[in-house]
Amino acid sequence: MLATTRAVILQTYRYSDTSKILRLMTFEHGPCSAVARGALRPKSRYGGMLEPFVEGDATLYMKEGRELHTLSAFELVRERRDIGHALGLYTVASVLCELVMRLAPEHRDDDLYRALVRGLDVLHARARSGDDGGGLEHVWSLVSTLGFQPQLESCVSCGRGIGEERARFDFSAGGLHCSACAPGGPGLEVDELRTLRALASGQPVTASAGQQGRWLADFIRYHMSEGANLKSLPFLRELA
Ligand SMILES: [Zn+2]
Repeated sequence: MLATTRAVILQTYRYSDTSKILRLMTFEHGPCSAVARGALRPKSRYGGMLEPFVEGDATLYMKEGRELHTLSAFELVRERRDIGHALGLYTVASVLCELVMRLAPEHRDDDLYRALVRGLDVLHARARSGDDGGGLEHVWSLVSTLGFQPQLESCVSCGRGIGEERARFDFSAGGLHCSACAPGGPGLEVDELRTLRALASGQPVTASAGQQGRWLADFIRYHMSEGANLKSLPFLRELA
């Protein structure tokens, strides 16, 4: 079957001297892998555009029951190359792509596709304007689209509602402990809790990234990757 679908390149690998394998998130068929024959040749018709974060209309020979399809054409829609010039934004974009690669369901998922491209577009716009920070709210949005929303409005132990007060973020329990239940005392100040809630609900914040990257990395590692570190998570923990 020959199919054309909008797709984002999540990751690429060298496959032979001249070919590449692409991990794609497609709009119509969900995640898939495809070999791009000749992509590494100097005069490839793809002209070096098959790189992570790039979005285009991919034409694929799809074989039923096969894991690896064959790319037959790729028409560029958005290249988002500037993300590569900003290390912090590149890290966040890499986490977005790796989460989709590891956790996307094996079928079309419009909300997930849109959450991915919305995040990449914002990161790209920030990189173009010379920024190198922020964007973590888009990872949290993707986390929530994948069904892993942390519990930040009530205590995970006693169920009591938690308002504007100190609490502890216990990533392994999946949310907040109130000050009475928190082992080791409430770790978050009120303004830190406000920041965490804003990010987790997809709103940008101006505070610096350090602690926020660690919250997110710990939550993802524990709940979404079965304790395994995604390759990009150590970099997320190190965000300035
Ligand atoms: Zn409690």
